[in-house]
Amino acid sequence: MKELENWSRELKKNYTPYEQDSSKPVSCWNEKDVISGKIVDAFVIILKTRGCSWAHNSGCSMCGYFNDSLWRDSSNEEIINQINYAMEKYSDQKFVKIFTSGSFLDDEEINPELRFEIIGKISKKAKKISFESRPEYITSEKITSIKSKFQRNIFEVGMGLESSSDYIRDRAINKGFNFSDYKDAALLLKKSGWEVKTYVLVKPPFLTEKQAIDDCNQTIKKIKNLTDTVSLNPTNVQSNTIVEYLWKRGQYRPPWLWSIVEILKNAKKTLKDVRIKCDIVGGGGIRGAHNCRLCDKGFLQSINEFSLLQDLTLFDDLNCGCFDKWVDCLNFERFGFGSLVDM
Ligand code: SF4
Ligand SMILES: [Zn+2]
Repeated sequence: MKELENWSRELKKNYTPYEQDSSKPVSCWNEKDVISGKIVDAFVIILKTRGCSWAHNSGCSMCGYFNDSLWRDSSNEEIINQINYAMEKYSDQKFVKIFTSGSFLDDEEINPELRFEIIGKISKKAKKISFESRPEYITSEKITSIKSKFQRNIFEVGMGLESSSDYIRDRAINKGFNFSDYKDAALLLKKSGWEVKTYVLVKPPFLTEKQAIDDCNQTIKKIKNLTDTVSLNPTNVQSNTIVEYLWKRGQYRPPWLWSIVEILKNAKKTLKDVRIKCDIVGGGGIRGAHNCRLCDKGFLQSINEFSLLQDLTLFDDLNCGCFDKWVDCLNFERFGFGSLVDM
């Protein structure tokens, strides 16, 4: 749909990137994750590149990652400086995630020579290496060339499918690819022995809370045989996005944590041994997924622990008076226009 694409492009028209130090990554930190069912330390690096090519074209309705990019072409030297800076803080974690504000396999963002150099710096100490890419950049040539050079590593590629519905991806997200593109890329990765992580968006704009839950449930059913991990991404309100535009006008509320727990419970029954996790950016804040403030902390902690342990009983004791308000929201939102926002 051209309207959403044009709108997203229009919002970026006067965007001026803030001054950034291109020798340092956006961020790097240590966190827990899982390799072959075992909890391990993971090291995450977010590189500052030129940004996602799709964002340069128009971009997804909820995505403000371009705010962290250089928004101009970057040199190999700048990116290597960022990696070197991060590696000073690296302490031999077995799992390393190299994220950009776009696609690691997009040659415009990271050229092949640079890609090999980055992986080469990590591959000796890390066992598993994870990066993200849109499906159009995932080709058998790229997989084969990386595989043949780095044979001892496990590779995981994260794809932002967001929803299995082409209608929602087109009309609410402006994602710019179809379910079949995701499916072809996922099958190719699996055939090559690589792991697939699929990001599923919780509550794109223009959906009610109930529609958002139903969409996640359906999406998870449809991808259960195509992915090794599902990562739920609750929408948070990022700067210079369509979501922020709506939110500022009282037409969007980030998802309830009750909804996320509901989706995780359904998902675990559907997915069985396929891992499901949920990282909540800005959780508990007005721009992130939240409940009533009083119970947010307990919910966030249970969701975090569930992401590692996959134990549904972690949700058993969650309780709060705001439950009734959430149920009202599920029942009545469809009679209004847009989200019922916090008063
Ligand atoms: S969500 Fe992914 S594909 Fe969409 S604009 Fe952001 S980085 Fe690009
Ligand atoms: Zn509450």
